[in-house]
Amino acid sequence: MNYTKSFENLIDNLSKLPGVGKRSAERMAYQILDMDNFNVQEFSKALLDAKNNIKRCKICGNITESNICEVCDDNSRDHSIVCVVQHYKDAYNIDKTNSYHGTYHILNGAINPMNGMGVDELNINSLFERIHKEHIKEVIIATNPTTEGETTALYLSRLLSKYDVIISRIAYGVPLGASLDYTDEFTISKALEGRRKI
Ligand SMILES: [Zn+2]
Repeated sequence: MNYTKSFENLIDNLSKLPGVGKRSAERMAYQILDMDNFNVQEFSKALLDAKNNIKRCKICGNITESNICEVCDDNSRDHSIVCVVQHYKDAYNIDKTNSYHGTYHILNGAINPMNGMGVDELNINSLFERIHKEHIKEVIIATNPTTEGETTALYLSRLLSKYDVIISRIAYGVPLGASLDYTDEFTISKALEGRRKI
């Protein structure tokens, strides 16, 4: 027995989401069909609202529903320090730790010539404008510990060295509670690089 055209289309669209395989998409599709009309309408409205209302902060590139995001608009934060990340979700993850109270700058990716991602495609120029405007004293580069992330970090650190700012790179290393036995060499070498005095 084949699925109907609309049901198949729903499954296809759900399986476009990250981490959702065909089986999970099928389960979700059954669940959606079992929902009442009001809830399905609310669900589809939430998708459209998110897409239509969310834009990028004019200062840092974070997602916002105003011109300026909550972080850039918050005077209780330390605006002299900025943490540069590849994606806004990285900023959310760092912020959840409550151990950072500066601002962010979202690059929207990393340098990756293979994927056509060059410097011009990234939100970089506005970072340098911010250094002057906001009197930034420290830039923490928190791009991912991948080839693209490291290339981007190196590129940024070279450009930033012309400015009077402290440049730092977040440390990567062995996860808490993990054993070195089960940690890959790349992570161990990064942990050694980021070692600190005790
Ligand atoms: Zn912002």
